[in-house]
Formats: sequence, structure tokens, C-alpha cells
Amino acid sequence: MKRVAIGGLHTECSSYSPLQQTAADFTRTEGDALVAMAPVDFAALGIAPVPLFHDRSVPGGPVAAEVFAAQRTEFMARLKAALPLDGVLLLMHGAMFVPGTDDPEGEFIAEVRAIVGPDAVIAGAFDLHGQVTQDIVDALDIFAAYRTAPHVDVPETRARAARMLAAALAGGPRPSVHWRPVPLLVPGEMSSTFVEPCAALYAALPEYDAREGVEDANLMIGYVWADSPRATAAAVVTATNPAAGERAAEEIAKAYWDARDRLAFDMDAAPLAEGLDAAQAPAILADSGDNPTAGGVGDRADVLEAVLARGLEATFAGIADPAAVAALEQGAREVEVGGSLGGGGPRVRLSVDSVTLAADCAVVTSGSATVVLTRRRRPFHDLKDFEALGIDLGAVPLLVVKSGYLSPDLRALPRRQVMALTDGAVSQDLQRLENLHRPRPTWPFQR
Ligand SMILES: [Zn+2]
Repeated sequence: MKRVAIGGLHTECSSYSPLQQTAADFTRTEGDALVAMAPVDFAALGIAPVPLFHDRSVPGGPVAAEVFAAQRTEFMARLKAALPLDGVLLLMHGAMFVPGTDDPEGEFIAEVRAIVGPDAVIAGAFDLHGQVTQDIVDALDIFAAYRTAPHVDVPETRARAARMLAAALAGGPRPSVHWRPVPLLVPGEMSSTFVEPCAALYAALPEYDAREGVEDANLMIGYVWADSPRATAAAVVTATNPAAGERAAEEIAKAYWDARDRLAFDMDAAPLAEGLDAAQAPAILADSGDNPTAGGVGDRADVLEAVLARGLEATFAGIADPAAVAALEQGAREVEVGGSLGGGGPRVRLSVDSVTLAADCAVVTSGSATVVLTRRRRPFHDLKDFEALGIDLGAVPLLVVKSGYLSPDLRALPRRQVMALTDGAVSQDLQRLENLHRPRPTWPFQR
């Protein structure tokens, strides 16, 4: 049996969010639950897994420097305690932003390499919205990333990385990672793998995998809401034949670059006022600039203010406002919401007609609006999220969610679907983003 450590850090950070992530924002997975995150039969692969820990947060603002330092220190201590190791399986996102550190994942993985030594095989599984750097490529032997966005292949991606790792440890040829940066950064909403051009680009990846000497081909979209010198898209290929890996990376990078003019929002998109005009019931309106699953704060009330001004009947899921939830629990009959966590935008006064407390949320009806106020920053992407609150979506004319592209559950609903190009830490209006540190030129910041 080969000893393989498992663990990693998983978050996505908007450098435009005023809200730094703290230790409390991360959920830690350890032990058997961590081993189960990679859905393979480790014993059958000849691997004895050694779980360290996996820290994951809802995407948000920058991770406070001392939080990252503490995670790193503890991870490396557990890694040293687990020696000797034949390999490491890292479950990463790749878009962490830490003030004062240009390449947090690069430093983290390089330290893992330094501890386990040059002979150990290190595999990394990534989100396709992660950033890749030379340090990451140099420290890894194996790289695999999601091939769907919205992401519906997370377990399969980890399994790909684990199987390649097992093959290398079983005496197969030692793989290496090859990459080509692509100076192109767009939001996930313009690079959904469910519509063209990315549908075809991702559908072609298995054809590269099938080539002699190529193990696993990837296209990294990167993360557009961090103003960072490492921000880039990239083709990343795991190969046992370096020349074949280089060639595949070159071709994938060129194919993405050549498709840049066809990258477009995957749903109808408009400024807020026009978006509301277009959202004829039954409809879903995505408040995209404040989407917490892309790193937005999730506390803004711009859409609520606009909907109340028009007297529209609408349900909002949700707005993060822990103080308002606490006040409602104490019986408040009026609350003010919007920007309570520092995300900006208007403050909106709600007189409470009724309130229901469920699933750690307060569901408030106020005139024509039903507003789900949450204690924590969180999305409402799954039908079960609404069931838990007792909300019957069939009776909701206009559903407003904080989201970019819609989740698979919401996308499947027979409703008009509109993305409002709202303000916030993950604004889709790229030309308005401060751009001091990204490489130049990067399309479409410079055309
Ligand atoms: Zn992602």
C-alpha cells in the first residue's frame, strides 16, 4: 500500500469585497469524511489514504493574511507528522486572494513539495475558475480540473486526479504538468460549458486525453474578480510524454483564444431597470453583482428597493443580514436591510406583515415583497433550499436570487430567466472594475 496524504484549501476571493474572510468562514473536513471526498476505492488502487484536513468557505472577500498563515502552518505540521508519504492528493479551488501574497496556492503547494520531497507524486484537483502559476505547475506532477460550469463534475474530477496518482504510484510513467497561459479573463457567466463556445471547447478535452502520452487535458477560465498579477486563463495538461503535453496545451490555449469574440452571457442580461422590465412573470431575476457564490457579499438591497418602488410582487432569496434576523427573533415589526455587512447599496426599511423563522433564516412579508433574510452569507440554488423555508415557488411570480448563471435546479424551471447587471463586489461590468495589477494586455480589459 502506498501512503497518500489528502487535504487542501478551497475558496474563491473577490479582491473587490470589503469583507475579509476569517477562520469562522471555513468549514473543515477531516478523517473518513475527507477520504470520501475523492470517490474512488483507495484500497483497490493500492493506496492507504492519510487524511489531513480540507478547509472550504463560501466564496467571499480576501482571506485575512493571519488566517491563511494559520491554515498553512497547521497543514504543513500535519503533513510532516504523516511522513513518510508516497504521494499527496490536494483538493483545491485555486482562486484564493490573500493581501500581501501574490500566489497563495503556489506558495502552499511548493511548501508541500518541499516537505514530501522530489520523489513523492503530488496530484491537484482544481476548480476551473482557479488560477494557475508556474510555481503551481512546477510543484505538481498531476493536474485535473472541473470540465463543467456550473460545476456538476466535482467528484469525477477528484476521481480523475486520484486515479492518475494511483497509476503513477503503481509503477506507471511519471507524469508532468504543462501549461500555456491565455491572456483572457471573463466571468463564468460568459464561459458556461453548457453553451457555446465553451461547450465545444470542453467537449473536445477527452479527445486530447486519448492522445498517446497525454493523461488529462484542462482549460482554466481563471477568476476575473481578483485584481492580481497572476490572473489569467490557461490550458493545463498532465502528460507522460512532455512533448505531447506541450503540444496539447498549445492547441487548447489557441482554441480558447480564438473563441474570445464568441464569449457571451449564457442568459439574457441587462441593467437592473431593463432587467425588471424583461422579467415578466413567472420569472427569475439574478442579482449578479452581489452573488455570494462568486465572492459577492450578498447583503445588498438594490433590487429590493427597485421592486418595492414598482410595487411588484416578488420573493427575494436571500439577503444576508444577521442583525435583522436577530431583531426579528426578538419580535421587531420593522427592520432596515441592505449593506449590513459592508457590501454597500441602499438601506431599505421593511415593515413586517408576517415573519416565519426557519432554516436559520427569517422569511418576512412586507407589502408585495417576501424577503428571506439570512444569518450567514449563503446562496439559494437548490429546490430543497426553498422547501426548507416552506416557500412554494409555483406561487411566486418573480423570484430574485443572488446568483450569476443559474444553478441546474433553477435553470430547469419553466420561467423567464434574466441576469441583472447589478453593482457589487462581483460586478459583471468588467470595464468598471479597478484594474491595477492584472497582466497587460488581458482581453477584454485591453482589446
Ligand atoms: Zn468555479
